[in-house]
Amino acid sequence: MDASLIRADVSWESLVARHVDDVADANDDDSGRDETAARNSKKTGKYKKVCTTDPDASMATNGRNRRLEPSYKQHGVVDDECGVIVEIDVTTGEANEGDHILSRLDTAAQTTGVAITLATADAGYAYGKVFGGLEERKISAVIPTKAEPIRSKVPLRRFRYDAHHDIVKCLRGKILRPNRTKVAYGRFFASKARDCKGCDLAAICLSPSRVTKAVVIVNDYPALLRARRKRDRWGKEEKRLYRRHRWRSEGFHGEAKSWHGLARAVRRGLENMRIQSFLTAMAINLKRLAAAFLLFWSLIWRSIYQEKRPGRSPGSDLRFLGQPISATIC
Ligand code: SF4
Repeated sequence: MDASLIRADVSWESLVARHVDDVADANDDDSGRDETAARNSKKTGKYKKVCTTDPDASMATNGRNRRLEPSYKQHGVVDDECGVIVEIDVTTGEANEGDHILSRLDTAAQTTGVAITLATADAGYAYGKVFGGLEERKISAVIPTKAEPIRSKVPLRRFRYDAHHDIVKCLRGKILRPNRTKVAYGRFFASKARDCKGCDLAAICLSPSRVTKAVVIVNDYPALLRARRKRDRWGKEEKRLYRRHRWRSEGFHGEAKSWHGLARAVRRGLENMRIQSFLTAMAINLKRLAAAFLLFWSLIWRSIYQEKRPGRSPGSDLRFLGQPISATIC
């Protein structure tokens, strides 16, 4: 599974015009040049460029040092053995990959009628909810986990989550219990003020002006911890599979963009973008099919005309897709 951004067919001018309109509306200011308001709204997350000429596209980027561009995102599931694209979907560019992998894998399994037993993906999919969903489906994951962001001198990994009792224990053995504050991706666990009062770690553990410690435990956190431990134990096979993922699954997106014009949308709107994406996938699959037929017939030709040595049946030692060629001919 992999995802890739596709540049939407919109101009930069359309983005700027809409932004100025929004700021003007927000401030009821005809000039639309209230820079302070624009800066403040950026800080609060309300600042958002949108494409007036293609509202389905949204601003997204591939890397931190690259600028945001109006984009769509293609999500693709590729069969590991032959490189056949078995599932494709397109969303707006800012869609999170982690929200789509499970539904795409389910659809791929439904389409092919083959249960998926192992999935490979890059670190952009390393979320607790993804590992939890894959465990539920009994799918092994070869997904490199991300390093835990360290935002405090006492990072989250120093707190132990006890799934059985649904509590978190801090370094000093004090218990943090879930409170009512919920976030979309997890739950808050907080300590008691009397536990932290007088703690020798309070100066580095607690935020200034706080008397209790609060941490967020993401959904399916135990699955994420298991995936992290598994990542530390990756052997040759996992490394081989992940290397294969890099050229097989990510290579498909590169092929689609370099050779089939999918780097940029040719029409506007999500449905039109889906059509372009499906047609591109179809063209690539036809190429795979043509290559397979070419290989198949060349093997047959070789088995019939070049393997006429005494004591050998035609095609006895040749294989196609893991099967003896003689069985494939039958
Ligand atoms: S400050 Fe509170 S949460 Fe942090 S280590 Fe001390 S007792 Fe535990």
